[in-house]
Amino acid sequence: MSKVLIIGAGGVGRVTTFKCAQHPEVFSGILLASRTQSKCDVIAKDIKSQLGYENIQTATVDADNVPQLVELIRSYGPELIINVALPYQDLTIMDACLETGVNYLDTANYEPKDEAKFEYSWQWAYQDRFREKGLLAVLGCGFDPGVTGVFTARAAKHFFDEIHYLDIVDANAGDHGKAFATNFNPEINIREVTQKGRYWENGEWVETEPHEIMQVLNYPDIGPKNSYVIYHEELESLVKNFPTLKRARFWMTFGDEYLTHLRVIQNIGMAGIEPVMHQGVPIIPLEFLKSVLPDPGDLGKNYTGQTSIGCRIRGVKDGAEKTYYIWNNCSHEAAYQETGTQGISYTTGVPAMTGAMMMLTGKWTGVGVKNVEEFNPDPFLEALAKHGLPWHEKENVDLEF
Ligand code: NDP
Repeated sequence: MSKVLIIGAGGVGRVTTFKCAQHPEVFSGILLASRTQSKCDVIAKDIKSQLGYENIQTATVDADNVPQLVELIRSYGPELIINVALPYQDLTIMDACLETGVNYLDTANYEPKDEAKFEYSWQWAYQDRFREKGLLAVLGCGFDPGVTGVFTARAAKHFFDEIHYLDIVDANAGDHGKAFATNFNPEINIREVTQKGRYWENGEWVETEPHEIMQVLNYPDIGPKNSYVIYHEELESLVKNFPTLKRARFWMTFGDEYLTHLRVIQNIGMAGIEPVMHQGVPIIPLEFLKSVLPDPGDLGKNYTGQTSIGCRIRGVKDGAEKTYYIWNNCSHEAAYQETGTQGISYTTGVPAMTGAMMMLTGKWTGVGVKNVEEFNPDPFLEALAKHGLPWHEKENVDLEF
């Protein structure tokens, strides 16, 4: 029985809080805090009325401000902080955890606001400080990063002697009926998908132009989809933790309409992260764009179709080559019915709750800063399937690569 502080009341925060409240035997109390307290209040009200979970409080906090965080943490006394605010806040929240002696979990790696650069170096630099304090920080415990790392760990533990080729495949075959919208925070999402592509091959990173490599891949229950190689943060930790990998790539599906909008947004400078002057006031184009795009948390109502995310792996077992595919499909409609938001938030919030559950029930232990693939995948995957994201696996299938 443990109290948790959840920071961030967006789509992912909503799902994470709902899922924690479904397990009062583990999460005996929840404090949900965000920049805007009214957003936390709406979620808390829905949880009380829909789940009958009463032990939830809300607060306002600026998670960029360490003293504010420290004060809030000390006043509530949680055992764990689940950070589902934005990647910009990762380091300040980790600093506050160190100061107050509280464990930490997040779903996205730190990135500086003024540079679209995804890498773990900043957070891995906290390793010694977390160890010295006897604390544990679990990084990247959403779906991707998150479940994809645990899927890879399962493959390495049970199906291969060595894994050689890893392709993470992420399809969203949902339809929200909008001309253009992003499925999670627009600012973070657009920074991610407009950067150059990058994958790991023979011990080094190979860089591509954005969306340069495309292949039509087939997804279970969805069918063929144009899939593009993009850089995704879990590749960095996976090639470090599975050094037998000869190649590791991340593929994401994009529709033509989405890519056309994205191209226009970039060409007219709206994806820019440098300030520009507008009527004497400096504004950041991408932040302004976020304020006119649909709120990802509101997409759920009319969202149909499903997501399919998995790992396609080739390697050797007992001297013979073999292939393995593990994946989850998630229905946007079912996610909305259960939590009031769409599948992308759902597939992030369920693993965040599951990782927190692993930490609080002593199934994932240790000290220092760790990525999810460093833990035992078995209890996590058992709980994940039980709590909303059932997964499937097949051996010796055509991986299409
Ligand atoms: P949203 O933008 O919907 O929500 C973010 C929330 O964080 C907002 O409620 C916002 O508050 C709050 N917030 C932002 N800045 C601060 C601050 N300084 N102090 C306190 N609260 C703050 O994002 P999502 O819910 O879509 O995504 C949340 C996180 O999940 C992101 O880090 C994203 O990268 C990650 N993610 C991970 C995925 C994975 O599979 N690993 C997939 C999808 C998302 P306010 O509304 O008041 O501004």
